[in-house]
Amino acid sequence: MLKVKKKRHINSMKKKLRNYLRKRIQKNVRCRRCHKIVLWSDLKSQGYTYQCLDCDEDLFTFETYVGDDITADEMKEIKRLAMPLLASTNTATH
Ligand SMILES: [Zn+2]
Repeated sequence: MLKVKKKRHINSMKKKLRNYLRKRIQKNVRCRRCHKIVLWSDLKSQGYTYQCLDCDEDLFTFETYVGDDITADEMKEIKRLAMPLLASTNTATH
């Protein structure tokens, strides 16, 4: 019983994560510093366009470039890095 409940919770988190990333991921825009895939920034009002999860920084457009498409491995890594962000989004009151 408990196991089933836990699994259902994980599945809903995965679904939320997928939706979260679908709205933010730029398939081929990369960070100039670390060459990782960047997401849309949550700080657009402050002039930032993207955010790099690996550098943990918000970026201007000129700090990024259009490179190769995201790979399956990169997608996995982004999911891992984005999980804490998602948790903080849930507790934020907008
Ligand atoms: Zn970076």
